[in-house]
Amino acid sequence: MSNVEIENPAAETDQEPQPVPVKISAQPSKESQQETKQAAEPESEKQGGFHAFGLKPTILKALDRSGYKEPTPIQAQTISHLLKGRDVVGQAQTGTGKTAAFALPMLNRIDVANRKPQVLVLTPTRELAIQVAKAFETYARDIPGLSVLPIYGGQEYQSQLRPLKRGVQVVVGTPGRVMDHMRRGSLKLQDLNCLVLDEADEMLRMGFAEDVDWILTQAPKQRQIALFSATMPKQIREIAQKHLNDPAEVTIAQKAATADTVNQSYVVCSPRYKQTALARILEASETDGVIVFVKMRSTTEPLAEHLAKAGFKTAALNGDVAQKKREKIVEKLRKGEVDVLIATDVAARGLDVQRISHVVNYDLPHDSEAYVHRIGRTGRAGRSGEAILFLNPREKYQLTRLEKATRQVIAPMELPTNRAVNKQRVARFHEQITHGLAHPELETYQSLVEQYVRENEVSIEMIAASLAVLANRGRSILVKGELKKDSFADNSRRSHGDRDGSNKRGHRNSGPRPPRDDSSMKTFRIEVGRQHHVQPGNIVGAIANNANLEGNAIGKIQIYDRFSTVDLPESVSREKLDALQDIEVGGQKLKIRRMEGKVSERPKPFKKRNNNYSGGKKKPSPRRPR
Ligand code: AMP
Repeated sequence: MSNVEIENPAAETDQEPQPVPVKISAQPSKESQQETKQAAEPESEKQGGFHAFGLKPTILKALDRSGYKEPTPIQAQTISHLLKGRDVVGQAQTGTGKTAAFALPMLNRIDVANRKPQVLVLTPTRELAIQVAKAFETYARDIPGLSVLPIYGGQEYQSQLRPLKRGVQVVVGTPGRVMDHMRRGSLKLQDLNCLVLDEADEMLRMGFAEDVDWILTQAPKQRQIALFSATMPKQIREIAQKHLNDPAEVTIAQKAATADTVNQSYVVCSPRYKQTALARILEASETDGVIVFVKMRSTTEPLAEHLAKAGFKTAALNGDVAQKKREKIVEKLRKGEVDVLIATDVAARGLDVQRISHVVNYDLPHDSEAYVHRIGRTGRAGRSGEAILFLNPREKYQLTRLEKATRQVIAPMELPTNRAVNKQRVARFHEQITHGLAHPELETYQSLVEQYVRENEVSIEMIAASLAVLANRGRSILVKGELKKDSFADNSRRSHGDRDGSNKRGHRNSGPRPPRDDSSMKTFRIEVGRQHHVQPGNIVGAIANNANLEGNAIGKIQIYDRFSTVDLPESVSREKLDALQDIEVGGQKLKIRRMEGKVSERPKPFKKRNNNYSGGKKKPSPRRPR
């Protein structure tokens, strides 16, 4: 029987990963082995689809069970190359079926009698490692004796050492941990036939360049390599050139990014008003199911509570939510028992609910691909959907990038006026009355009200109103006053349509800035440096957005190899600094602290380097992100 234990696959940015016991092994039951034999003959006679590749019957059977009828384009173009042993460079995004594109041919080539690692897949995150390992397991469920093991940082070594010792044929891991095991001798690659770099661009972005290079250099020379990447920057091409042998190049055109059925809009809102603004937007809109995407898991619960107070049926979904509970929440969302789901990208992965009328990007996603992925949750099955993007005033320059990625205009959205909110509140109030009229207890209450009327000289309307006050727990039903334009933007210097108003943040010296009194500035250290591919703009952006500081409050930035320094006003509050501790830039927590004394490492002027892959002989630095 196959055995999958996966807990807590979280990748949000605000907590240290907890050790997670993960074991994946595929040992099919006798029953399934029999089925395999029975299925073998008729299946192998079929033509077309996956059968044309000449994959083993056990694999074809698993594909049948998974309901895969036809190979996706990346599979159609990749599988036969990999089956023949050729190296492949594939440009394809998540969702194209790229996992099966490499997993199927690699499984096909495994010698099950040999319990040494024959396939090694490197992934940027532990979540992807788990996901890919699971995919291998699914496709291998009818291959007796085939074991798959995900290994990643944050998990106890012991739980990885045992299965490695017992023997596994497929290892899927993050570069840091894979390298550790190789160094300890617990992961030996002498029988390795195939190596996959999955989401290679993401691995570079997370600072794994040197580790990947080291692993590739250590692997046997005769191995086959498949490299997959959503984008093909120069660095990736350099890896391909250095390590791959005459690779077949496969490019899958970017999917027509966004369905025509999705309307996109953005609203400019300062972080401190976001909760209120979101509640207001949702209240004034005709919504069905809503997914609100947030960056950090710590945002999910408080936001769910805030919206629940505003009258929505909410649930929070983050990496801490156990799988069973997650399934329950998704089912509730499907059935309408939950209307607004607040989720991190990781937790919402694979979530497919048709009634999603609105997707809210409460925080900017980490890249445009994630944005496209998020908004693809709405506008399904021929219905129209709304995608709403929250931007703080200095994030407006991101719009152009997202418009390019979706090939659609993202229109500015005005926050709903009080009148619009009130109109919806009244409509909802009337709806509730209608709903209550159908309640089976209505007659009982009717006689109680009649009794009250007999005993007190009060009109029925007054009683109804009194009951409404009670039902609303004393909260006022209508919003008073009127909203001023831009009152949530908290940014009087920039107009609503000023898209490039904040575009200066990546260029510390460009554009006029109000003078700053540098004598009141102090130098702080942050634990992200050049080796994490950080640029000054990333640092300014992260600090400005998360500590709610004006860009011009951020002074000189010096980028060193492993850390950087940034000048901030001496008066910057403890809370603001605390807010920055766990913020990640380049995959590293900032861990900001005040600098005492001088920086011992000699500063090097910031310059984009592209020679990270040139150092095959160089020893990896001990301070890599894992
Ligand atoms: P991936 O891009 O590997 O993350 O795959 C995206 C999704 O497509 C996964 O849920 C796969 O199970 C599914 N998938 C992969 N190949 C096929 C196929 N040939 N037919 C149907 N679904 C597929």
